[in-house]
Amino acid sequence: MPVNEAIALIRGEAGEVSGFLSVAYDITQRREAESLIRHLAHFDFLTDLPNRTKLAERLDADLRTASRTGQGVAVALIDLDHFKRVNDSLGHHVGDELLVKMAARLQQHVGPHDLVARFGGDEFVLVMIDAMSPAQVQRRVMTVLDAIPEPIECGGHEIILTASVGLAMYPFGGQDAMTLLKHADTAMYQAKLATRNSFRWFEPAMLAESNDKLALAAALRRALDRDEIDVHYQIQISLDSDKVVGVEALARWRRCDGTSVPPDRFIPVAEDNGLIIRLGELVLRQACRDAVSLSAELGYPLKLAVNVSPRQFHDRNWLRVLRQALTESGLPAEQLELEITEGIFMEDPREVIDVIQTVRSLGVGIVIDDFGTGFSSLAYLTRFPIDKIKIDRSFINEVVSDPADAVIVNAIIVMAHALGLVVVGEGVETIEQEAYLRARGCDEVQGFRYSPAVSLRGCRRRSAPDGAPTARTLNRQNSSWLRGSPPMR
Ligand code: C2E
Ligand code: CA
Ligand code: CA
Repeated sequence: MPVNEAIALIRGEAGEVSGFLSVAYDITQRREAESLIRHLAHFDFLTDLPNRTKLAERLDADLRTASRTGQGVAVALIDLDHFKRVNDSLGHHVGDELLVKMAARLQQHVGPHDLVARFGGDEFVLVMIDAMSPAQVQRRVMTVLDAIPEPIECGGHEIILTASVGLAMYPFGGQDAMTLLKHADTAMYQAKLATRNSFRWFEPAMLAESNDKLALAAALRRALDRDEIDVHYQIQISLDSDKVVGVEALARWRRCDGTSVPPDRFIPVAEDNGLIIRLGELVLRQACRDAVSLSAELGYPLKLAVNVSPRQFHDRNWLRVLRQALTESGLPAEQLELEITEGIFMEDPREVIDVIQTVRSLGVGIVIDDFGTGFSSLAYLTRFPIDKIKIDRSFINEVVSDPADAVIVNAIIVMAHALGLVVVGEGVETIEQEAYLRARGCDEVQGFRYSPAVSLRGCRRRSAPDGAPTARTLNRQNSSWLRGSPPMR
């Protein structure tokens, strides 16, 4: 038993020492507390994995050895995808349990000399010290990536998680622990952007890219404050009547210096940092108002298609914004369609079905955008209540020249019709593509053949003079449409 002994002098009346008082304390608990504190300084409280401090110490030591022996050291930063959703929907205790189990699983799937550390919230770091070659590291990381999505039983739920991994290898990916970890983090971020459940090796070009993204995000935030975001519209034509039946709202960012940033650049940035919530709300409200006035001018109800990002779909507030946009603009819900991508179905299906059902109960339609490019599990077409699919423009592009694409387009049209869904061909540029789609019974078309996206004024100009524009009148007039977007409003 560890004891602490205190000794005091005992003095007599005259002050002379008459004895000693010795008291021994049992300090087991204090020793235990001290060792726990020492342990916690180096190990994570929840998972008992080495923490950041321990990781940095170990990695520094490994790198010193590597610099002498020439042995490879690789760092993998593993970030669980959408972990926050587990916490939000099932509670922190389930999230904690999941992290503990995931930590154990990671340890099971790494080599005897590898180190697994908890880097933060839902981030883990794997250090491989006997890393021979990038190919070998990659194989080992794949084993871990494959093991992660095995279902985990937590608090009565079966949870499936994926992870995104960034890889950096000494010495090219960084000379010291801090740099290696930072670079692995940069690569992980790129992996997440590309597609979840994947890995990326760090490349120096990524640094410039991520700085660029940060700058773009800051500029976009300012742009939203300064009203630099506008909505343009691209018409959609019914092949049955040759009439314009709807428009798709597309966000446009024109900076005050007159240059514009294409949506393919700023939308992913906005999705990544959450600005898509503000941007999407702005587009939705504006587009609903514009659709009401365009319909009034045309004299018939025009359908309005608005793109919705997964992030908005999962935002609790978004359904309220949707209802508000409809009431405030007076747009009948039946005129609104929301375009979502197949990626949404990879998320929690119950939540997605809930949101889709609520949206449809309002009378708003659901369109699957970019159909055919996603993971293309057709099963969800029957499982999820949707109204329309939009064949991706990459298929339309080659439909006349590539028999394989023609087969896909045919199959999509037949299948969609069998399920009672409306089919739109997007990115139609030539008369041959239009003819092909018309012959196969495609319902609607959209593309540069009819018009690029133009400002509301441009859209008005098209439809103003002699009633509604049709595919044919547009084709005759299309030179002015194709000269590019008219000046902004
Ligand atoms: P998307 O939803 O697939 O939109 C169609 C894109 O194809 C538009 O590009 C449109 O200008 C382009 N396009 C239309 N016809 C043709 C054609 O005949 N040929 C070719 N080559 N392209 C054609 P845009 O406006 O650059 O938008 C790119 C993407 O940005 C959109 O793809 C959409 O995913 C996203 N986006 C745009 N606005 C919004 C928005 O308000 N919210 C969200 N969440 N995403 C948006
Ligand atoms: Ca779209
Ligand atoms: Ca599309």
